[in-house]
Amino acid sequence: MEARTAAVIGAGIGGLAVAIRLARQGFRVTVFEANDTPGGKVAELCMDGFRFDMGPSILTMPQYIDELFQLCGEQPQQHFRYRRLDPIFRYFYTDGTEITTPADPQRLAAELESKTTVPKAKVLEFLNRSRIKMELTDPVFLQRSLHQWKNYFDRPTWRGILNFAKVEAFTTMAKANALLFHNAKVEQLFNSYASYNGSDPYQAPATLNLISHYEITLGAFYIEGGMFTIARELTALAQRQGVQFRFGSRVGRILVNDGRATGLVANGIRQDFDLIVSNADVNATYRQLLPDRSSPSVTLNREKSSSVIVFFWGMKKEFPRLHLHNMFLSPDPKTEYEGIFKQGRVCDDPTVYVHVSSKEHSADAPSGCENWFVMVSVPHNTGQDWDTTVQRTRSNVLRRLNAQLGEELEPYITCEKVLDPRDIETRTSSAMGAVFGNSSNGIFSAFLRHPNFSSQIKGLYFCGGSVHPGSGIPLCLLSAKITAGLIGKVQA
Ligand SMILES: Cc1cc2nc3c(=O)[nH]c(=O)nc-3n(C[C@H](O)[C@H](O)[C@H](O)COP(=O)(O)OP(=O)(O)OC[C@H]3O[C@@H](n4cnc5c(N)ncnc54)[C@H](O)[C@@H]3O)c2cc1C
Repeated sequence: MEARTAAVIGAGIGGLAVAIRLARQGFRVTVFEANDTPGGKVAELCMDGFRFDMGPSILTMPQYIDELFQLCGEQPQQHFRYRRLDPIFRYFYTDGTEITTPADPQRLAAELESKTTVPKAKVLEFLNRSRIKMELTDPVFLQRSLHQWKNYFDRPTWRGILNFAKVEAFTTMAKANALLFHNAKVEQLFNSYASYNGSDPYQAPATLNLISHYEITLGAFYIEGGMFTIARELTALAQRQGVQFRFGSRVGRILVNDGRATGLVANGIRQDFDLIVSNADVNATYRQLLPDRSSPSVTLNREKSSSVIVFFWGMKKEFPRLHLHNMFLSPDPKTEYEGIFKQGRVCDDPTVYVHVSSKEHSADAPSGCENWFVMVSVPHNTGQDWDTTVQRTRSNVLRRLNAQLGEELEPYITCEKVLDPRDIETRTSSAMGAVFGNSSNGIFSAFLRHPNFSSQIKGLYFCGGSVHPGSGIPLCLLSAKITAGLIGKVQA
């Protein structure tokens, strides 16, 4: 019998992972990618002897990547190597306090106690609560489809319901952390994890405090060769499984006949497939690829997550005070988040994240130099004047970093490139340039993401950061697993 055919629209992390899984299930898979390179938001920039990762810089749960190699009978370490970071982050406050976070709850609690007087026991309690939240929600929300009734009648779901108070869904991260710590510095440090999925700690449920458990207790990892290695190696793995890639191939339409997806049109050419998986943003999938079909407007119109401005700076000097991951926290976080989420503007003294991968991998910068990835959270794109905002933010960022590092930085910038929400929208089709799909600010956000399948069109599936279970590399990989699992069940 001839193999069934599947088309994947988009070679983002979710698209690559689903292509590998479908190939393993016996499908003949073709991936259509509008860009000339794979990875979507996981992209790379090389400029004047410097190499930068343009998207993610922090990887948690690398075992989900290992799993793809193991599924194909390969040794992950032969293609994809990583090491656990310890310490993880260096936080800089405007009053000169510096906190370096070790990858171990006990040592972290000791560091916070010595720098802020918050008792060790409180930090350990926080991390323990974060662990419980993760254990209660991970099997229910992250590992399977939320859109199948039968998934609500099992042990993990009932355990979650019976322990619902521990999930802290009805208070915000900021409120829960204020109540526990009574210390502005520690509250701000743990609230800043909200930015990992583009949400606002003053609105997002305290459930999201679980993010710190993934990073601190389970680990943050450095990928040898940089984050783009993930995209490159997953593409190579997919190719070894027989997946065909069509780069520079923008899909313009998904074809539907009699309530079933039957193919697509890419670069003006029509091609038939037995099923389609869209890894493109779900908004773009409905509005651009299925313009004649009714769309789930309530889901599509929900508030979007924040976006980012990133400055890529080649620096002709080394800065020993900086670590691989550095966070220069805003002196006024409440005003910063209100600006982003309520007023649609970037504050004048924002939190600045500086990632310097050449600290771990010296080949990423010429000798005596460093590659700075300087990122600020900003609102998603609603037509703001980004040219002016980028210039204003650049001066504000330099003013802050000059003051904190005690020297004039501008003369050391030898080359520069900027990424803003318009670029993210154009390069990856993300609605409004949001980095993390729909916002996670509401209590019910987890339930209101688009499912991994279409209930209107048979044979049409979705995976990636704009659909269930959400954004960030680990969740996109889980999204692909859930989608491939659903397809496998239909085929069985
Ligand atoms: C600056 C930045 C920092 C980040 N930091 C982190 C981090 O530290 N850790 C972390 O885990 N995550 C981070 N993320 C988020 C993470 O990168 C994303 O959640 C994840 O990569 C999204 O993957 P995806 O599968 O949704 O696909 P995407 O990356 O969104 O890619 C979708 C692909 O589909 C293609 N496409 C769209 N429409 C079409 C079409 N019509 N035809 C053909 N192709 C199409 C696009 O070109 C694109 O390549 C960051 C993102 C950014 C931008």
